[in-house]
Amino acid sequence: MAKCEVCGKSPAHYVCQRCRGLVCESCFDSLMQTCVACLNQASEGDKPVGAAVPNWFLRLFLVGFAATVTGVLLMLLSGIGEGSGALVILIGPVPVTLGYGPHASTLAAVALMLTAIGIMVMFFARRGR
Ligand SMILES: [Zn+2]
Ligand SMILES: [Zn+2]
Repeated sequence: MAKCEVCGKSPAHYVCQRCRGLVCESCFDSLMQTCVACLNQASEGDKPVGAAVPNWFLRLFLVGFAATVTGVLLMLLSGIGEGSGALVILIGPVPVTLGYGPHASTLAAVALMLTAIGIMVMFFARRGR
């Protein structure tokens, strides 16, 4: 019987799904199906083992969402007073502005500016990592 590759003492009954090493019961994590050495490595790394949505995509989505909310807010605020409004929608990295009423272009510019600030914040947040 092969000896555990982690502690080298107990007989190995399990195979780590990460490094394929033979490990004993006490050196094997049945939940993660890996040895404790791989478990420690996995917890040290900042990336989860499973496939995750990339960070930039989430940020882009959040910024797009925030910009859309901002646009809707502007539309609502202005809609009460002067009957004009603007909306910024992010299609990927391309902002599309929609507006109506006499102050549409001003509102669209403000909404675009807020979007640009959001993108800048996103950009610097990415750089800071
Ligand atoms: Zn062991
Ligand atoms: Zn392992």
